[in-house]
Amino acid sequence: MIGQPNASHFVNGKYVEDTSGQELDVIYPATGEVIARLHEASRQLIDQTIHQAVRAQKMWAAKSGAERGRILRRAADLIRERNRDLSVLETYDTGKPLQETLVADATSGADALDYFGGLAANLAGEHIQLGNDWVYTRREPLGLCVGIGAWNYPTQIACWKAAPALACGNAMIFKPSEETPLCALKIAEILSEAGLPPGIFNVLQGRGKVGEALINDPKVDKVSLTGSVPTGRRVYAMAAAGMKHVTMELGGKSPLIIFDDADLDEAVSGAILGNFYSSGQVCSNGTRVFVQTGIKEAFLKRLQERVANAIIGDPQNESTNFGPLINARQLDIVQNYIATGKSEGARLLYGGEIIDRPGNWITPTVFADITDDMTIAIEEIFGPVMAVLDFETEAEVIARANTTEFGLAAGVFTNDLKRGHRVIAQLEAGSCFINSYNDAPVEAPFGGVKQSGVGRENSKAAIEHYSQLKSVYVRMTPIEAPY
Ligand code: NAD
Repeated sequence: MIGQPNASHFVNGKYVEDTSGQELDVIYPATGEVIARLHEASRQLIDQTIHQAVRAQKMWAAKSGAERGRILRRAADLIRERNRDLSVLETYDTGKPLQETLVADATSGADALDYFGGLAANLAGEHIQLGNDWVYTRREPLGLCVGIGAWNYPTQIACWKAAPALACGNAMIFKPSEETPLCALKIAEILSEAGLPPGIFNVLQGRGKVGEALINDPKVDKVSLTGSVPTGRRVYAMAAAGMKHVTMELGGKSPLIIFDDADLDEAVSGAILGNFYSSGQVCSNGTRVFVQTGIKEAFLKRLQERVANAIIGDPQNESTNFGPLINARQLDIVQNYIATGKSEGARLLYGGEIIDRPGNWITPTVFADITDDMTIAIEEIFGPVMAVLDFETEAEVIARANTTEFGLAAGVFTNDLKRGHRVIAQLEAGSCFINSYNDAPVEAPFGGVKQSGVGRENSKAAIEHYSQLKSVYVRMTPIEAPY
């Protein structure tokens, strides 16, 4: 089969098969074909992987940061050399067009490995002089980290979690989404080829139950999840029972605000990227597009013209720029939201049609005249459905934009410099954009507030989430004991 890897899991430096686990079919979203058949990890394999990772971590942490960083950077180079093959695999795993995966997935993973590989040699504590005594701090790894991925960016998510974890001297067991299990195996293989010692980055396949077994093991010190808010609540609660560190990268319903003075085509570009890239299956998407009434008609007209240019088709064809949804269930969810939008009185401006071909296809969809109380303005759809809402004033739009349980991202399009910064400062969101949308360079912290998450990925901030400080008091003066 097309995407068939050497085996289901990557444990302790090699591919491992374990047919005692439940079968896991990998389906190519563009055709509905089964392209690989894997197995979930059994309890025995989970225990063995944890045991070996705990042992390996001690030796990994004992290496210098420079040594660890060299290996991560070597892996980044190998990923870049093999970008095309990895992108083709990412396209089979997710259905996202090759035009996207060639520039957004393996390359983003390589950026993370490069960046944290570079930081590894610079991890340091501080020296605090207290008269003749002093305190010094040591930045130490957490130990064994578990990474759990969503299905929309399997390569990127694996690397965004592995790179800072490994740079800090941790070991990681990564459980990809059961929908997209292939890409992380390749990352594990490449890390191993780059010189990563066995047991430091492992991949175990499985559904939620495998994730739960990992999280609940007392030898696991940290859990980093990318997934939905409901899953985040469950995972956070399990981690809390063991007092484990967490990073939660969860869902959103982010506002994208377009003021009358914005550059029209730039704003339309932002709305297209922030709603239809990866067929709308992006957590930080700006799915509530607030458009000031003065620019509304021009915006909708231009948007409609440009969305009509989407090239929908074979994702492996590099000219295609709009692919299928991940699975039949997601297609069903999106269809139901479209039906709800219509029944609640939203105006369907464009799309909303199922495409009659094998796989999970729906056209990019734009609703106008949306009000804040409509279901499609409140709930995360995770599909190509844009909701356009009107607004009159700055104060009004800020209040409405913040009326949501989510807080992952937000964007503002305006040519008024002061207004851009003033509005962004008042939006309750972690990842924000002015005259842009969805840029996610490794140098910038990424993550949400409110229900959208806890902690940050990427940037120097991620180091805080994969390490802990030990403080050491050093006494040079005599101790004054009371007796
Ligand atoms: P999901 O929550 O269904 O699954 C995410 C992962 O959690 C999967 O690997 C799944 O197997 C695992 N899981 C499910 N139940 C579990 C449990 N009880 N214990 C442990 N693990 C469990 O999410 P999804 O459908 O794969 O992805 C879509 C969601 O992810 C959307 O809400 C989207 O916004 C969010 N997302 C967030 C980010 C971000 O960085 N903030 C990025 C991508 C996707």
